[in-house]
Amino acid sequence: MDFQKLVDVYAELEKTASGNTMREILAQFFKNVPVEDISIVSYLTLGQISSEYEGVVLGMAEKSVLKAIGIASGIEQGKLQKILDETGDIGLTAEKALLKKPMTLVPLGTLTIQEVFERLHTIAVMGGSGSQEVKMNTIAQLLQKASAAGAKYITRMVIGTLRMGVGDMTVLDGLAIAYTGEKKNKEILEKAYNICPDVGVIAETLAKQGLLGIEKIDVTVGRPIKMMLAQRVEELEEVSEKIPGKLTVEGKYDGERIQAHKDKRGKITLFSRRLENITEQFPDLVGYLDKHIDATEFVMEGEVIAIDSSGKCLPFQTLMQRKRKYDVEEFVKKVPVQLKLFDLLYCNGKSYLHEAYDIRIGLLEKIVHRGKHITLADKIVTEDIEEVNDFFQKMLKDGFEGVIIKSMATDSEYQAGTRGWNWIKWKKEYVKELSDTFDLVIVGAFIGRGRRSGKYGALLCATYNEKTDRFETLCKLGTGLTDELLEELPVKLGKYKIEHKAARLLVKKEMEADVWFEPRVVVEVLAAEITKSPFHTAGGGYALRFPRFIKFREDKKAEQATTSLEVVQMVGKR
Ligand code: ATP
Repeated sequence: MDFQKLVDVYAELEKTASGNTMREILAQFFKNVPVEDISIVSYLTLGQISSEYEGVVLGMAEKSVLKAIGIASGIEQGKLQKILDETGDIGLTAEKALLKKPMTLVPLGTLTIQEVFERLHTIAVMGGSGSQEVKMNTIAQLLQKASAAGAKYITRMVIGTLRMGVGDMTVLDGLAIAYTGEKKNKEILEKAYNICPDVGVIAETLAKQGLLGIEKIDVTVGRPIKMMLAQRVEELEEVSEKIPGKLTVEGKYDGERIQAHKDKRGKITLFSRRLENITEQFPDLVGYLDKHIDATEFVMEGEVIAIDSSGKCLPFQTLMQRKRKYDVEEFVKKVPVQLKLFDLLYCNGKSYLHEAYDIRIGLLEKIVHRGKHITLADKIVTEDIEEVNDFFQKMLKDGFEGVIIKSMATDSEYQAGTRGWNWIKWKKEYVKELSDTFDLVIVGAFIGRGRRSGKYGALLCATYNEKTDRFETLCKLGTGLTDELLEELPVKLGKYKIEHKAARLLVKKEMEADVWFEPRVVVEVLAAEITKSPFHTAGGGYALRFPRFIKFREDKKAEQATTSLEVVQMVGKR
């Protein structure tokens, strides 16, 4: 397929600020994409060249790309740098420079989607000495073959700034309309996507095998599964209503969630909550999993925590020292860890996703040889809320965050990617005060005055509405931002700055920010109350009172923020 067709779609997407129009544009486009190209096209519409979990990132330096534009356009670097300074955007620079292309070097054949995709892949995995030169020439060749508008998007893609405002869910909507004629079938696609978070696979399966093929999608070892999440209640007593009968109550550990995969060849891969491959951060865990699990193939989940020499749990901040690319071995010794396993999703060729909790945990108990570094979550089984509370108090005393209460009913399957009522969390914050934390996406900023002049004075924060695939504003956040943080914010957020509000953002004119951001960065916010508000859009018009910044949630993607529905549910209970 001709790359120019995708370029035309990018141009249309870029012009629209409406999520619905985006879906329509994509659906129309997908209808005409040949089956063999649909998976590639799905990645490219997201500005990616593979599924996110595969971690194939381009991220070339702007300087090298500028040189490539120089080769392709015959314009000297000084002039190009001037255009870049004026436009502030590598894409516009490329477009301007290549409007009048010299008829030299490479003949202008048709640039196909396949060729762009393959070459970008080659660039992404290339390393070693001399690779910069080869990368630059490869880009130059692509730019020569592309139209000026095509060059704009290619250059943005290679430096990682192509942002069309399209999210995974927008693509799934587009696919559902294009291939099944009905948007409501997106639900089926989403369910499969929770088990297989790879738009390329979903698109190709749908195109080749229809919805029947989609419904058959199951666990593949080595490909992460979106993690199951826990609901919350206001009063512990509500638990018996939500989960009648016997309950398992497990400790809730404040560490990092890990999904561990071991394939037939013995290769172990660890995924984070964001489904990033974090295997290299934990070579010690890989070793323990290899040694202490009695299964040739598995997918299991647990929380990793830092421990001291006696095996006692250390705070989250200590564990964070293990989040590093360098000196990994040194920190393996400095900060030993323990994995508290709590679920089994696949074992020796069989998927356990749809099995009840009892069956999954029963098998997990059998195959884990417990020790200092690998063990199972502490737990009790009870029907009595008093006992749940006793165990909760004990967990707090041991320094943990609270408990997770899990259903043992026959339908207590692993609900991939879903915050369902099979798991309920009960944390210390819920008991102490009437406050709660929210994980919100930063979508805009207001320039500060007085002491904060020249910096961001407040941030516009939003929830995620799963139903509509939009972000809805919930508060202006100014409290809790330290001087250090105020310095850091423009750097951290700068790369996500966009000209107009994000396409999927629903915002009232009273909350028009001075600066807009692509919804990427998630922050944890503490607030005392939720009130009705005519200025915000979350849940149809709610706002937080006295919001306070707590920390960045690097482990969460924008779509994993607190949802608008959760906010509405919290209001209902107060
Ligand atoms: P929070 O901010 O409360 O941690 P969250 O949005 O990150 O919430 P939730 O699903 O609401 O995620 O809370 C569950 C999280 O608690 C899991 O993602 C996991 O990391 C952690 N956890 C700790 N112990 C357990 C356990 N025994 N079972 C399940 N999850 C556990």
